[in-house]
Amino acid sequence: MSPGAARVRFAPSPTGRLHVGNARTALVNWLYARQQAGWFLLRLDDTDRERSRPEFAAAIEEDLRWLGLAWDALARQSDRLAHYAAAAERLKAAGRLYPCYESPIELDLKRKALLAQHRPPVYDRAALALGAAERQALEAAGRRPHWRFKLEHAAIEWPDLIRGAQHFHGRDLSDPVLLREDGQPLYSFTSVVDDIDFAISHVIRGEDHVSNTAVQVQVFAALDAPVPAFAHFSLLIGAGGEKLSKRAGDLGLSALREDGIEAMAVASLLARLGSADPVEAKASLGELTSDCHLQRFGRAPAKFDLDELWQLNRKVLHLLHYRAVKPRLAALGADGGEAFWLAVRGNIQRLAEAGEWLAVCRSELQPKLENPGLLGEAAALLPAGPLDERSWAAWTGEVSARTGAKGKQLFRPLRLALTGREQGPEMRLLLPLIGRERSLRRLRGETS
Ligand code: GLU
Repeated sequence: MSPGAARVRFAPSPTGRLHVGNARTALVNWLYARQQAGWFLLRLDDTDRERSRPEFAAAIEEDLRWLGLAWDALARQSDRLAHYAAAAERLKAAGRLYPCYESPIELDLKRKALLAQHRPPVYDRAALALGAAERQALEAAGRRPHWRFKLEHAAIEWPDLIRGAQHFHGRDLSDPVLLREDGQPLYSFTSVVDDIDFAISHVIRGEDHVSNTAVQVQVFAALDAPVPAFAHFSLLIGAGGEKLSKRAGDLGLSALREDGIEAMAVASLLARLGSADPVEAKASLGELTSDCHLQRFGRAPAKFDLDELWQLNRKVLHLLHYRAVKPRLAALGADGGEAFWLAVRGNIQRLAEAGEWLAVCRSELQPKLENPGLLGEAAALLPAGPLDERSWAAWTGEVSARTGAKGKQLFRPLRLALTGREQGPEMRLLLPLIGRERSLRRLRGETS
């Protein structure tokens, strides 16, 4: 990594599996790091003990590996509690973190009262006014404090690399709770401590975090740290404008993978969705790296369309080189050699379908006989020698001359007899793969 190069992180909470929305954040962070010869941290935000699960953390790692997003370092927030405690002590000593004793019910009542007066539900800082004796009395009565960060009532601004200049004001925001009553540090805080300790230069994440950023800008400053650059994506929505969270299950990376979606189809779509650049099928992440520009992303919500993903899947499969796909074909029992792959790769939706075409080429098949007269002539005219890619044109030319059949009349019965299907890869390429003997038997209507 060169000095001053970008240092970025992807920070999922292991409370569920990755879906296309998180994957987009991970991917763009990764591409940005690669483009800048920078550094990419995978940070597992697992301080929420009730909701975080090791199996989700493992699944996130598996999904990222599948996408090809290797990380330069991995950190778990649960390993870093001492750092958060030390930073909290510094904020307390500086008077920026203060204890509050309101119960959730009391806070709710305050909020409702403010809303009833058409005022913003901003915390009133009542706890700041408590004297030492009052605090002691509350604690003696069994209350334990949660801790709020005292925001400065000043303008908060940052030049967002995607959204442009952002303006907030401290007085419009509630002092955020950074430590829960049970001492657990909350995300707004732990994230900042980590971003400081790992010297993160760019925080690239979804726009659902914009208001967190407003608070976090002040937490960085209170901890005497430089504020990183921020970029917030617009959110992904469904093709019909619906929220994607409603479909988190079927848009999970593992569900897409199990369905036969290629990692590069996901990456090709997510790297460009919502940006000014067109979506194109790419064969490798390297091809997406050079033109990943944050400024090219727009503010409007980006539409994620599953049909578009499937179209890209077909194109990505078509781009796959035999040597890259050979081990996967072998694992599926569908490795029919390079000529076979080149014949079928342009005609499949998902890789597993290669197995069906290998069976067409090599296994028994019940041929579909249409126009047996034509098929009989065709069998008699099938060239004697080994068949190659030129055989089909020569052979069908002769069959046409002998029978007068042309176009669909000629090709449909031949395809149906030889493959049992109406459509598929080019017959020019399939014929040599099916071979002479098997072709003859199929043309004669014998199971073969
Ligand atoms: N754990 C947070 C989330 O998953 C991280 C957000 C961030 O990137 O700071 O939303």
